[in-house]
Amino acid sequence: MYEKRKTNGLVLRFDFLYICYMHILTLGNECLKEKALPVKTIGPEYIGISEELINTLHEGKGIGLAGPQVGLMERIFAIHIEGDIPRIFINPSLIETSQETLKLEEGCLSIPGIYTDVIRPRSVKIQAWNEKGRPFTLEADGIMARVILHEYDHLEGILFIDRVSVQKKNRILAKMEKAVVSRRE
Ligand code: ZN
Repeated sequence: MYEKRKTNGLVLRFDFLYICYMHILTLGNECLKEKALPVKTIGPEYIGISEELINTLHEGKGIGLAGPQVGLMERIFAIHIEGDIPRIFINPSLIETSQETLKLEEGCLSIPGIYTDVIRPRSVKIQAWNEKGRPFTLEADGIMARVILHEYDHLEGILFIDRVSVQKKNRILAKMEKAVVSRRE
């Protein structure tokens, strides 16, 4: 599907969005290690794309989902935190992150079954555009800041297991490897 995408235009892009996109990619998929590209124009199609992204997020019972996790290599992510509305961030920039840090347990729809403490800034100020192409700035702390930073990392090809010590990361990878082997048996 990725090769096909390089060959040409609209129809293939359609394939790309509507086939690849519903399926959440998991650890080992190259899309998760790549840097996503800026969205050139936030056209009306981003309303549909955002809706699908949010639906997929809900279906996975997650609180954040980024384009690369569904094979959409563009700078877009969705978050939906309890008590808040779903929010879309397109072409986000981190304006400020706090010096103060916070240790919180993280998980990821692309790394199912793994939860571990990660230290990140406690609060963040971010500027982005929504699905209608309207710019906004948001200041967040606690869980929301955490989800924003986690999802922003996905746009850079960084996973939360890249934010823990090498020893911890190796333990997680070994655990995942074991899970895959036991599924095969
Ligand atoms: Zn994630």
